[in-house]
Amino acid sequence: MAFASPISSSYYLHNLCSKPLPRDPNSNPRKNLTKLNKIRTFPLLHRPPICSSQWEGRDSSTFNIFSSVASADIVLDETVEKVQLPKGDTWSIHKFGGTCVGTSERIRNVADIIVKDGSERKLVVVSAMSKVTDMMYALIFKAQSRDDSYITTLDAVLEKHKSTALDLLDGDGLSSFLSQLHQDIGNLKAMLRAICIAGHATESFSDFVVGHGELWSAQLLSSVIQKNGLDCNCMDTRDVLVVNPTSSNQVDPDFLESGKRLEKWYSENPSNMIVATGFIVSTPQNIPTTLKRDGSDFSAAIMGALFRARQVTIWTDVDGVYSADPRKVSEAVILKTLSYQEAWEMSYFGANVLHPRTIIPVMKYDIPIVIRNIFNLSAPGTMICRPAGSEDEIDQRLESPVKGFATIDNLALVNVEGTGMVGVPGTASAIFNAVKDVGANVIMISQASSEHSVCFAVPENEVKAVSSALESRFRQALDAGRLSQIAVIPNCSILATVGQKMASTPGVSASLFNALAKANINIRAIAQGCSEYNITVVVKREDCIRALRAVHSRFYLSRTTIAMGIIGPGLIGGALLDQLRDQAAVLKEKFNIDLRVMGITGSRTMLLSDVGIDLSKWRDLQVEKGETADMQKFVQRVHGNHFIPNTVIVDCTADSYVASHYHDWLRQGIHVITPNKKANSGPLEQYLKLRALQRQSYTHYFYEATVGAGLPIIKTLQGLLETGDKILRIEGIFSGTLSYIFNNFVGTRAFSDVVVEAKEAGYTEPDPRDDLSGTDVARKVIILARESGLKLELSDIPVQSLVPEPLKASASAEEFMQQLPKFDQDLAKQRQDAEAAGDVLRYVGVVDVVNQKGIVELRRYKKEHPFAQLSGSDNIIAFMTQRYEKQPLIVRGPGAGAEVTAGGVFSDILRLASYLGAPS
Ligand code: ADP
Ligand code: ASP
Ligand code: MG
Repeated sequence: MAFASPISSSYYLHNLCSKPLPRDPNSNPRKNLTKLNKIRTFPLLHRPPICSSQWEGRDSSTFNIFSSVASADIVLDETVEKVQLPKGDTWSIHKFGGTCVGTSERIRNVADIIVKDGSERKLVVVSAMSKVTDMMYALIFKAQSRDDSYITTLDAVLEKHKSTALDLLDGDGLSSFLSQLHQDIGNLKAMLRAICIAGHATESFSDFVVGHGELWSAQLLSSVIQKNGLDCNCMDTRDVLVVNPTSSNQVDPDFLESGKRLEKWYSENPSNMIVATGFIVSTPQNIPTTLKRDGSDFSAAIMGALFRARQVTIWTDVDGVYSADPRKVSEAVILKTLSYQEAWEMSYFGANVLHPRTIIPVMKYDIPIVIRNIFNLSAPGTMICRPAGSEDEIDQRLESPVKGFATIDNLALVNVEGTGMVGVPGTASAIFNAVKDVGANVIMISQASSEHSVCFAVPENEVKAVSSALESRFRQALDAGRLSQIAVIPNCSILATVGQKMASTPGVSASLFNALAKANINIRAIAQGCSEYNITVVVKREDCIRALRAVHSRFYLSRTTIAMGIIGPGLIGGALLDQLRDQAAVLKEKFNIDLRVMGITGSRTMLLSDVGIDLSKWRDLQVEKGETADMQKFVQRVHGNHFIPNTVIVDCTADSYVASHYHDWLRQGIHVITPNKKANSGPLEQYLKLRALQRQSYTHYFYEATVGAGLPIIKTLQGLLETGDKILRIEGIFSGTLSYIFNNFVGTRAFSDVVVEAKEAGYTEPDPRDDLSGTDVARKVIILARESGLKLELSDIPVQSLVPEPLKASASAEEFMQQLPKFDQDLAKQRQDAEAAGDVLRYVGVVDVVNQKGIVELRRYKKEHPFAQLSGSDNIIAFMTQRYEKQPLIVRGPGAGAEVTAGGVFSDILRLASYLGAPS
């Protein structure tokens, strides 16, 4: 098998990237540096054959990578003076992530940054080119699955590095790199073939294979730095960094041994400029291994500690650590500073900008870590260090107690429950021993003090093993009923809230839970350690991004963003959309409220958007991009946007079918706002169900514009009730049309003439009978009656219709209008009688709370009465209450028309925003 050649050789030579030999040893204090090419030996299988080739044929000014001496004939001069490793502040450590070295152009850019860095001594840790480690893992996976396409993937790996080298290097540098690359690829091919035949790869084989990405990128970068004229040594960190495997698929650095090896390495490769491989390390037995995924950050931190460096700079593709993953929260902000603990908590709980273990080594020596963006050098980045003292005190006081949020997906909760656990010592230890035996990683634990249940989160792919282990461990207890269940709740995510200042700030968890409740997110488990640096909640996976957005906006005062779906873009809906369009910018700038209309639907067409409809041309868009209306799809799309935590549906129709959905929407956590009277004046039972649901949840249902359009009628009534006033009677002119008609039914005018005038002025419905019948007023009366606590049906309200009995059956509005003058007499007589007594006629609705009834009828009022003073189509509503007994509380003003009704709806939308946390 093709494996034979490299592996059959017993020893590997690898002195990676050694320094060129000084021309005149005497002129150099480091005498007899011939030892730079000394042989390092690794027994078979302890060190697979990566470095068996020679990087030879260079003159002394070029740089040796993987220089080795196959002949092994160099004699070391034992009298050589040891070069001491100068530790301390003169060293700066830089780490460049995969994206920073993703292309030849980027590698050149990195070299440029390093050359320009003014530090006295530099060590640069480099990741594999972006995607390469994934490709290397894929190679292993494919080979052990006996999938031959690993060959194609390997070719792609070769091609990627070859083309990058061709672009970056020339001459000897290029040919050395390419010959080494080809040799490495040849070796890998042989190994993968063996893995493919065996159908299995040991961990050390895998670790050896995947680490190649870092070897190649380090070689490329150091060659480019050399080309830029800077002297540079390349370090294969497997020669220096020693780690001990732990039981939990992690490794622990052996700092003592690594320190010794570093001293030795440095004495053989003294340099002020070192390029080191990230990620790869060795076991104490010199078996190659890795620091596990994303481990290059950890490599840099370990180096920082070993060198006692001044600073570790982690270069990546974002401006620093954001308050939340910027891919999930577009309003996330860059954090100027983070304490070590905060950075650790953030990264542990999923902020993958930093490997969680990066913190520990540097924290011990107070070495700051700075996260910087290689693509935006003007951004100062995030400094992770010990929290500053009194400096910037005002800044600190203004700072949110919460620094950031992070999430981990793909978790399952395990709940072990039973009365038999209470007070029984050793239960928790038995549970977690069983979990440990299957090697699962417990991410959080929560137990209430009743000890009735213990609940913990593990990665979803480990939960099956965990639950079987627990079931077998507790079989007896389950059978005996001491344990009632071992339940697995799949599809969970963790949302962690991190901030050192939370420890001294009361109310943080209240705000957090409040924000989640307002976004209608159910919390499945909670954990907060007594350090109080972190509050962890477990939520359903599908709620996770919404939860993250909701809590983030609560603490960062970013815009209160509300996704809106508008149903019925007719007169009122259209006016509302235009008002939203005109006011959107002010709301955003001044009040931090971001209202995004995600959908508009009529009965035939609907318009949907994932980011928000451009309201300056919603009418055109509706024509151009409208699709067939589908209520279910509409709601799903408007509410399904996980980037926006809150959704409201605004029903601007007068439709009872649309109103019949409110209960279901509220149950889904969708807020509802409407001027549509149908739900609140419909069947009592449905109304009560709706209100009960609204009261139990944090989901809001506002309907101010159902009575008196934009006038504050419902709000006033609710205010009176909530502050303990007792409503005695509500009486009012609730119909703008009938208000207009009776305000103008004066002198000798015929009633029918006034109706014609009102119709022509657009004050009536197309068929004026809809106004004159009084049903609409009755609906308003029932709404106010129910709001006041009366349990009445619409049919319980006697309504005096102004449509003469014989005309109720008229076929059309025109026919009705033609016939109406015939019936003028009756009303003319009533008006004369009233006038004779100094009264006027007014068409009113009354809620008689004391006698628990309502009525709609034509009544007489004294000429001095406020109801007699109306003009135009004004509404007037008088509240007689215990507090307002002598003089009623009166609300008066225009109570009809698209503009004012839309204004009422808009004000409900803003009320919702403030309930959801917008500043007042
Ligand atoms: P590198 O290859 O440089 O190590 P990573 O992909 O490991 O880069 O980490 C950087 C990425 O981390 C960013 O591109 C960003 O999408 C993601 N990230 C997740 N959470 C955060 C956060 N809170 N702040 C900054 N970046 C984050
Ligand atoms: N290249 C390794 C990985 O992708 C290590 C790193 O980049 O941090 O996991
Ligand atoms: Mg990373």
